[in-house]
Order: sequence, then structure tokens, then C-alpha cells
Amino acid sequence: MSDGPLARRLKAQIAADGPTPLDVYWRAAMTDPEHGYYMGGHPIGAEGDFTTAPEISQIFGELIGLWLVDRWRQAGAPNPFALIELGPGRGQLMADALRAARLDPTFGDAANLILAEAGPEMRAEQAKRLAPHDPDWRDDWQSALAMADDMPIFLVANEFFDALPIRQFAWDGDAWRERLVGCEDDAFAFVAGPPGLPPNATPPDAADPPEGAILEVSTEREDAATAIARQVVASGGAALLIDYGHGTSKLGDSLQAIRDGQPADPLAMPGAADITSHVDFASLGRAAGKAGARPWGPVDQGAFLLALGAEARAEALKRRADAAGAAEIDRAVRRLLHPLAMGSLFKAMAITPPTSPPPPGFPP
Ligand code: SAH
Repeated sequence: MSDGPLARRLKAQIAADGPTPLDVYWRAAMTDPEHGYYMGGHPIGAEGDFTTAPEISQIFGELIGLWLVDRWRQAGAPNPFALIELGPGRGQLMADALRAARLDPTFGDAANLILAEAGPEMRAEQAKRLAPHDPDWRDDWQSALAMADDMPIFLVANEFFDALPIRQFAWDGDAWRERLVGCEDDAFAFVAGPPGLPPNATPPDAADPPEGAILEVSTEREDAATAIARQVVASGGAALLIDYGHGTSKLGDSLQAIRDGQPADPLAMPGAADITSHVDFASLGRAAGKAGARPWGPVDQGAFLLALGAEARAEALKRRADAAGAAEIDRAVRRLLHPLAMGSLFKAMAITPPTSPPPPGFPP
């Protein structure tokens, strides 16, 4: 397969400047303003590259909507406030959340909806479902948070942090060396960089890593958690981050790419496949704690949704469905909750002010 314009440009850059950190390659592959993955296509949903929880069942977004209303009331029902979603995809989660939130109409009235979205086609999808709520769009999480100014923020991000770039380091027996993206035989390939780790990299079992062990580090994910935490502390509010990943930092290569629903090589055809990796929730929690906020969890998605009443909500929906519809609801809920499906790989973390009582779904 011949190279597209983005691959050609990246190869020319590597030829000129040498191998590049993975996060630089990743950022270009996903958000290059012309050829990045998120600039085209409809990657989410039944016909897309992958399906996400809000696309599986309306219950997911509804329960999150109720969680946000609960946190907002607990904070004294501030008016106005910023309702922020990072990476809203097709807008389904927020549409379901705002419909459920109508049980307290003052929530919707007080909300200033801010959506952080890099992709124009995604924005168009979001506009279809969220236009009545008059959203403001920003390109990235930094400008979405800035837009909230000093309003309290109530923020949700589902499968957003896994899309923010990481760097990788490999243990060669003597030292950690960055896995840089280079070019061999005109194909992108990992090459070993100079020894050394960045200051925010903390190998979990540094004492004796096996040769070839891989350490993943994401400055951007930690920066985003830090910024959210600072804003929650300074202006009030709460954040809910849901993603696939692990609760304790550990070694291992979790880099993956998906193209047309199939696993793909992350270094083949930049811009054509969705690149993600496991979220290290422990590192996000440390970042939020350092910023003065209180991190909660992570808890398994299954346990979280159960605690919020997923089963009762499913029963209520089934009463209004025919037999086929009821079976479909059961299937969807099992997929969200079951440990062998999304229930334990996916996790939820909350970030609140330091004195907040436990948010629903997060045991003290
Ligand atoms: N939350 C949605 C979509 C998850 S996919 C759902 O659960 O269905 C990731 C989303 O984040 C997409 O909307 C993608 O376009 C957006 N995105 C990914 N990286 C981004 C970045 N760096 N800045 C802004 N948006 C980004």
C-alpha cells in the first residue's frame, strides 16, 4: 500500500530530524488538521471502527446525567456552571444525560454546555443531538477548560484519555531507552533512543524490570488531570473520567490501533486507524492529588453502573419494550456490566474538591 500525504510528511521529518517520540507521531496521526484520524469518517458506532458505552445503551448516559445532577446539587446548585464533555463522539452520552437531567429543570437552565472536540465530522454529529442545548465547541481540553473561566465545572470524559498520546520506554537490561518512531526500509519502526527517563516517569517495579519491559508515560494525560483538578479546587465542581485501563501503575505495552473494527499496526498508515492505550488511573489520581483535589477510585465500570441503579433502569425500560426489545436491553446491560465484557476493563474515576463527601458509586 502506498503512503498517504501524512505518512510521507512524517517520513520526511524523520529523515531530516531523526526518530521521533511516540507521542509526536500519535498526535499527528490522530489530530493533524488535514489528515488526522479524527478529521474524517465516522469512526464510532455500529458501522464505525469501534463501539463505545453510550452507543450500546441509553442507560449509560442517563446514569451519568443523574450523577452530574447529584454532584451539582451537592455543590449547592450553582448557577451558572460549565457542563463540559471532553471528546463527546456522536453526542449520545450528553444527549442521554441531559434528557435524564430534566428531572431537575434548573440544572439544564444553569448549564453552559462546552464540548472539546478535535474533529469537524464529530462536531456535526454532536450538533445533531445537542443543538437545542446550544453548545460551545473548543478544539482541545485546554481551551474547553479555559472557556469555563471561573464557573464551577461539572465534567465528563468517556474514552477520551485513552486517545491522548503517550511515550514508551523499554528496559534494555541496563537502562530505560525511549522507543522512538524511526523509519527502516521505508516503513515506520520502533528504534531505541538514548538512555534516560523524563522526570514524571516512575517505573512501578524499577528494582528489577525484565529485559524488554515497557514503561508507558503520558505527560498530556497527567496535565489534563492536573488542569481539571486545579479548576475543581479553585471554582468547585466534579469530574467523572471513564476509560479502559488499570488502577495501579504497571509495566507493559498497551499500545493498540483499530481500523474498520480490526486490530491494526499503530505504525502502519498514520491517520487511518484509531490509536489508543490503557489509561494509568493511578498516575491520574496522583496528578489530581498533587493539584489539591481528591481523586476517587477507580472503580470497575460494572460496579459503578450497578451502584447508580443500572438494573432498576433496565427493568423500567423493559416494561415498555416488546420481547425482542427486552432481550436487547438485557444484552446491552450485560455488555456494559459483565466483567468479561466492558464491566471490569473499563473503570471510573472521580475528581472532587478535597472536602467532598463520597460521590455516588465511589465507596469511601
Ligand atoms: N466519548 C465518546 C467518544 C469517544 S472517542 C463516546 O463515548 O462515544 C474519542 C473522542 O474524543 C472523539 O470524539 C474524538 O474525536 C475526540 N478526541 C480525541 N482526541 C482528541 C483531542 N486530542 N482533542 C479533542 N478531541 C479529541
